[in-house]
Amino acid sequence: MDGIIFSIEEFAINDGPGIRTTVFLKGCPLRCAWCHNPEGWRSEPEKMLKKGREELCGYRISAVDLSKRLSRDRDLFRESGGGVTFTGGEPLQQAPFLCEVMDDLEGIHKAVETSGYAPEEAFRSVLERADCTLFDIKLVDSALHRQYTGVGNEPILRNLKTLIASGKPFVARIPLIPGVNDTRENMEATASLLQGAEGLQRVELLRYNRVTGAKYPMVGLTYRPPFDENQAPVVHDVFTGRGMKLLVL
Ligand code: SF4
Repeated sequence: MDGIIFSIEEFAINDGPGIRTTVFLKGCPLRCAWCHNPEGWRSEPEKMLKKGREELCGYRISAVDLSKRLSRDRDLFRESGGGVTFTGGEPLQQAPFLCEVMDDLEGIHKAVETSGYAPEEAFRSVLERADCTLFDIKLVDSALHRQYTGVGNEPILRNLKTLIASGKPFVARIPLIPGVNDTRENMEATASLLQGAEGLQRVELLRYNRVTGAKYPMVGLTYRPPFDENQAPVVHDVFTGRGMKLLVL
């Protein structure tokens, strides 16, 4: 089976344990107002302007070729306690392809970063194969979620429940967007969702980065965040008091 990816980055250290290779799968059903990878939105390869030159962003690759390419660093992964991380875009958009690649990577640690926005069956099939899930939680209020990402969060909350019930290891990642989701109310609601999750390794709060808009002109888009980029996000630690490990990045 073929899939479409737009980047493979080696020696990544922030996408799971050890030294990792991160694979970016193309296509995402969300349009988060703070997304820093707009070249991951469209499902098909597209033109991208890099340093004044037009390049194609995204290419088709077979599951067999991708897994062969990723397996080359098997020894490095073993020595560093690392592995492969799949992200995007939204990698679950290509769940059958992703599952085939994961099946071919036996013995290599596999992490998947997801928005959780996927059909239940697709989510379960990938969860079954993942050693760790990096699950993004943006907003608990569905109307606000729709306002800032373009979609309601019902499938996300359902898949989060499935993940928690599985007991499998996961990291909850929360992008901290000033004036959008950095309220005590949203953080308390998020902590309540995570309370008692046996597989939860830690909560990561990812501070908004002001270089977020850099790639938009490269794919013919304009970055217009509906929040004040210059405002520092507020960090509410409602997590450690509930026994959860917290990392602010
Ligand atoms: S889910 Fe991730 S890739 Fe998709 S729009 Fe949001 S931040 Fe961007």
